[in-house]
Amino acid sequence: MTENRETQLLADVPDGLFIGGEWRPAAGGATLRVIDPSTGEVVKEIADARAEDGAAALDAAVDAAADWAATPARQRGEILRRAFDLLQERKEDFALLMTIEMGKPLAEARGEVVYGGEFLRWFSEEAVRATGRYGANPEGTGRMIVSQHPVGPCFLITPWNFPLAMATRKIAPALAAGCTVVIKPAELTPLTTLYFAKLLQDAGLPAGVVNVFTTSTSGAVSEPIIRDPRLRKLSFTGSTPVGVKLLEQAAGGVLRTSMELGGNAPFVIFDDADLDKAVEGAMAAKFRNIGQACTAANRFIVHRSIADEFARRVTERVQGFRMGRGTEDGVTIGPLIDDRAVAKAEALVKDAVDRGAILRTGGRRGDGAGTFYEATVVSDVAEGSDILREEIFGPVLAIVPFDDEDEAVRLANDTEYGLVSYVYTESLARGQRMIERLETGMMGLNVGVVSNAAAPFGGWKMSGLGREGGAEGIHEYLQTKYTLTPNP
Ligand code: NAD
Repeated sequence: MTENRETQLLADVPDGLFIGGEWRPAAGGATLRVIDPSTGEVVKEIADARAEDGAAALDAAVDAAADWAATPARQRGEILRRAFDLLQERKEDFALLMTIEMGKPLAEARGEVVYGGEFLRWFSEEAVRATGRYGANPEGTGRMIVSQHPVGPCFLITPWNFPLAMATRKIAPALAAGCTVVIKPAELTPLTTLYFAKLLQDAGLPAGVVNVFTTSTSGAVSEPIIRDPRLRKLSFTGSTPVGVKLLEQAAGGVLRTSMELGGNAPFVIFDDADLDKAVEGAMAAKFRNIGQACTAANRFIVHRSIADEFARRVTERVQGFRMGRGTEDGVTIGPLIDDRAVAKAEALVKDAVDRGAILRTGGRRGDGAGTFYEATVVSDVAEGSDILREEIFGPVLAIVPFDDEDEAVRLANDTEYGLVSYVYTESLARGQRMIERLETGMMGLNVGVVSNAAAPFGGWKMSGLGREGGAEGIHEYLQTKYTLTPNP
């Protein structure tokens, strides 16, 4: 890895707003700085949009909407497929860019390129399958036609933790369905979306179909867009409090919304589990993305008879981790996204320990530049501790013991969130009971990572509304029309 390669890559990333197929500065020329969280250094300055730029982006999406909706589905799918192919060619560049702006280890960034790319391939194929149905009504008095139509211009808002995959998971189904979009990436990691917009241009996407703005004043620029009656859909991935605020804004226009919000995933290990597999799954479910995933296991609910052995084994694994800049060989724990994230991890661990938890390893912030926090294990966490209520969003593994199945279910469901759960048991019947009893939209049964472009991703309860990926994903961007005709 050379400095030169990073410098060259960063120079290749556009620094403007992408509106109507053109790159342009923000109104008034404002800029925002993007920081490498592993060094604290500014890596690039890019346009910082104002409300008028957001309005221009929506204008462009509205202007392009009719032509894009009328473009044959196969043609739309082929552009997505070209984007998929180009992404494979540029895989190393996208991975490095994500490591620079977000901090995840390079190997994980490469994994995100694979995962994120699959949405382009999947929806390139789904584009041609979004058809309707035709048939006689039950009374035999007429023929029913059920057809699907693009919902119209969409506004997509994405978080910083998966800069590429969260963008492709929204852009690909929207485009496949025939919708144009305005996308606003997180201000902490905007470069990947800008670089991806350039890729879409190279893939032959017509002007105005995808428009991108970056801003340090998300609320002020987004709200007028959400309240504009020409907008037909809002798809948001981020924290639950911001999602709730946006739902309130969307309510005025009865705007269609998809919400992929926070999680507080339980990871339940029964005494009949294969402990080797559970430890392996725990490592992936907890430490992937440095713990900064909505699907990250937040609470390890472990049968009392094996809780100590589990804690010992995960502690041993964690002590073998290497913390550092994600570009360095062998690094498994990169920086957290910013100082607030470090302060949060610190406060949650302190609260747990103050209430009697045992700190098995870690628990300190890194020395020097960058926002690092050590991989940490705390066991014997008392009920009521903040770490069991809040999304940790950091590399802290918290263990709570339980005595019987009912207690495990009660603890697992004791949260307002319902995104994903993980269960380890060798009993089929118990696994089936957990599918029925755990209140989450997704479950890993003896598996620590569930995400897949072909599967419906989404949460129950306060983890959200709607699904991304799978056959369901494209329907978030389609609206149904029923037409009755007389018998022929
Ligand atoms: P966040 O809610 O702070 O920000 C998400 C996005 O919303 C960013 O682009 C941000 O700039 C923007 N935003 C913030 N305030 C806004 C406002 N008032 N109006 C318009 N936009 C606004 O979340 P984050 O810290 O970027 O991401 C972490 C959160 O995202 C976690 O809670 C995590 O669980 C969640 N997440 C959920 C999923 C999922 O699929 N369910 C996936 C990834 C992350």
